[in-house]
Amino acid sequence: MKLFKFGGASVKDADGIKNVFSVLEKVGHENVLLIISAMGKTTNALEVVIQNYFEKSDALNASVQEVRKYHNQILMELFEEDNHPVFSAVNAHFKELDYFLNHNKSPNYNFVYDQIVSFGELISTTIVSFYFNYRGLKNNWLDVRQFIKTDATYRDALVDWEQTQKLITKQIKKKNLYITQGFIGSDENNFTTTLGREGSDYTAAIFAYCLNAESVTIWKDVPGVLNADPRFFENAILLNQISYREAIELAFYGASVIHPKTLQPLQRKEIPLFVKSFLNPMLPGTKVYKHVDLEPHTSCFIVKKNQLLISLSSIDFSFIMEENISEIFALFHQFKMKVSLIQNSAISFSVCLEVIFCNFTELKSILAKKFKVSYNENVSLYTIRHFTEKAAQMVEENKTVLVKQISRETMQVVTKE
Ligand code: ASP
Ligand code: MG
Repeated sequence: MKLFKFGGASVKDADGIKNVFSVLEKVGHENVLLIISAMGKTTNALEVVIQNYFEKSDALNASVQEVRKYHNQILMELFEEDNHPVFSAVNAHFKELDYFLNHNKSPNYNFVYDQIVSFGELISTTIVSFYFNYRGLKNNWLDVRQFIKTDATYRDALVDWEQTQKLITKQIKKKNLYITQGFIGSDENNFTTTLGREGSDYTAAIFAYCLNAESVTIWKDVPGVLNADPRFFENAILLNQISYREAIELAFYGASVIHPKTLQPLQRKEIPLFVKSFLNPMLPGTKVYKHVDLEPHTSCFIVKKNQLLISLSSIDFSFIMEENISEIFALFHQFKMKVSLIQNSAISFSVCLEVIFCNFTELKSILAKKFKVSYNENVSLYTIRHFTEKAAQMVEENKTVLVKQISRETMQVVTKE
């Protein structure tokens, strides 16, 4: 079996969905399980709904209507008859969303988040499945929550591999074309959970692992894995092949092309991962596989914007030692700060962080009781894998370098633009 994953950008409008259909016509759809994300920026739009819900804002209704209107527009462009059953199928999801908004009693933000945000994927896959049938391509729509079981860590759920494996083995029979949702799962009590933002790639990897799939293909609006993000770097080039190891490193340092959790299950079963263009589906794209050399061998550039650089130094010139460091890290963990670079000297300790869930003010006041805290907000972290002098120069040009770190293959600099 082959796993195909189409992200939000590939199904952002009616033409996008038609294009997904034509990709399948070109590359084949037998023995394929299709994982689809929410359409376009729907997940962000649902995050606004969640915010309005918690703030008891008057805008709640309007924000739901906006999501509804967006999908309706797509439906009207895809289906000629306005009494086509797809309309009531999509409507049923919106009704369920309304029901939840009106009846939920849980004050747990993360729980509520998952119950609401998951409608993006349920609706997108419903539309795509009906559309394929409409075009004569028979398929089975699956509710992925009956397959991917997780713990109850809402917004960042941990997969229960044993249960998931059992459910997938039992119910997925080959030969068919299946369509299901990325990103979501369900817990023991059948409440919806999510695997973390952009988690649909990971869903594809979970299915691939459990099915011993032949391959996974992530269809993107870029030709494959590039050596740099074209939004920030000129002259990005396509990598024809890279190893799992290299891909994990790139994802770890922040390359957004593949969700970091995706690679491990694939690597364990040596399932090749292809990253290809949904605009040019016959081009080879990038192959991620075991022990292959980076081809072409070139420097890879990754940038993470909006980072926070904190430097802590001891107030009394005492050394910053293991004990302090472990205390500092426990705090980062508690505040869900993601550390992306560390540097320490005798009396000072610097970290570059990504602030995801919390703001820094509270943490700062705790740290300030023990250390002298200085910090820079909105810095950028550049990572160059396989760096050369020229590559380093290019990154540092016209910027103020605050921290620099070099290891054998990797160079990182934190800069103020
Ligand atoms: N729709 C989800 C998100 O935007 C999951 C995904 O796209 O992979 O985060
Ligand atoms: Mg998305």
